[in-house]
Amino acid sequence: MNLNGKKVAVLGCGRSGIAAAHLAAAHGAARVCVFDSDPEAVCHDATVELVAGAGEKEAREFAPELVVISPGIEADKPWALAFTCAGAPIIGEVELAYRYFGGRIIAITGTNGKTTTTALIEHILLQAGRSAKACGNYGYPFSEVALQKPQPEFSVLEVSSFQLETVQSFRPEVAVWLNFAPDHMDRYTKVRDYCRAKLRIFENMDEKQFAIIRVGEKLPHIKPQVVEFSAYDGGGILRYEGTCIKQIDTTVVDLKGTALVQAHNAENTMAGILACRAVGLKDDEIVPALANFEPPHHRCEFVAEEHGVLWLNDSKSTNLHSTEAAIRSQKRPIILLIGGKDKGLDYVPLLPIMQGKVKLCVVFGQIAEQLQRTFSGTCETVRVQTVSEAVRVAATRAESGDVVLFSPGTSSFDQYKNYAQRGDDFRQAVSGILRL
Ligand code: ADP
Repeated sequence: MNLNGKKVAVLGCGRSGIAAAHLAAAHGAARVCVFDSDPEAVCHDATVELVAGAGEKEAREFAPELVVISPGIEADKPWALAFTCAGAPIIGEVELAYRYFGGRIIAITGTNGKTTTTALIEHILLQAGRSAKACGNYGYPFSEVALQKPQPEFSVLEVSSFQLETVQSFRPEVAVWLNFAPDHMDRYTKVRDYCRAKLRIFENMDEKQFAIIRVGEKLPHIKPQVVEFSAYDGGGILRYEGTCIKQIDTTVVDLKGTALVQAHNAENTMAGILACRAVGLKDDEIVPALANFEPPHHRCEFVAEEHGVLWLNDSKSTNLHSTEAAIRSQKRPIILLIGGKDKGLDYVPLLPIMQGKVKLCVVFGQIAEQLQRTFSGTCETVRVQTVSEAVRVAATRAESGDVVLFSPGTSSFDQYKNYAQRGDDFRQAVSGILRL
């Protein structure tokens, strides 16, 4: 794409927007200006021109010839559309970076497991001696990677539905589709729209590329070669037996003793193995890297094991599907700590999964009352206000052999800045009560 002499507007002055501005400037744009609707927006990089508190007037005056939009901003809303008034095309930051990235791309999407799988694939590639960068929705903005000299051989790109909404020619060599479940209903009015945005990952791929897809995902026909996996159902090329990932009768890897042994992480591992095979790695380059991989924090993370009780921090669980996966992955009786902000989700689908596995539910936060109403017919439910109260209840009720699973199943914004702060609070409360 030739930007020579063009005026480029970048919308959103977060890290991706700033990186996109640098990328556009590096490729010859005559003028690049970052616009943000927040009057308080600041940019600490003096080389970047920023208009804070921008509105229609500023959009009209600048009259860009290309608009690049950050993932947090909705492309079809009036604020963003104002910048296209002179007919400028609008593309996402990922699309811009794609046009200037000359390396190979493994893209990962799904409702849950993207970050874990992205980090894992990067780890495998690095351990195999290849140059790779995790980027996109996790790690660096893709534009920062496209700016690197030399660029890495691989971009391992986590892509959210928001980022996929604004791609055009984006075509990864391998696309991983981990799973799909309703989420982000604050952004999408219909589940179908959320799914449609995610499906754009395959839009420009053809038979020469690979799609790594979980068994049972109901996708329309896509052109790339499909390779399937599942830790729960047969029918894929890989399956999970005990703690072993198997292909036909051969054990590819035994995950016992690794941080990936829980079934949902076994699925992420399968996706990682298949993606790495698709770009030409052999199993003897892939498997050794699995032993020392540490998943990012707050994802069914070990906190403590005291008096036979295991405490797990799954604060990154911000929807039903991830809590469902966390419950399914446990082999011990569960005390479930769940609650947080009201995202308009219905928790009834959790009931059959909880049955026989969850012995006590401790509900907290804004949706505590809704959860108590939903769960109390299925298992004993105690309602509290805060995470530390929930920990206290769990500590008095847990018996040797139990797992206390902190898997909130919704976002944290009713009480916390983000899921990480919530997870840290949980960890601290556990440490306090167990006097660790
Ligand atoms: P994402 O980047 O898609 O949000 P993460 O790796 O950050 O995914 O994990 C988010 C949540 O989903 C955590 O609660 C984690 O335990 C859970 N999770 C991880 N992998 C999977 C999976 N394959 N299926 C379902 N849930 C998963």
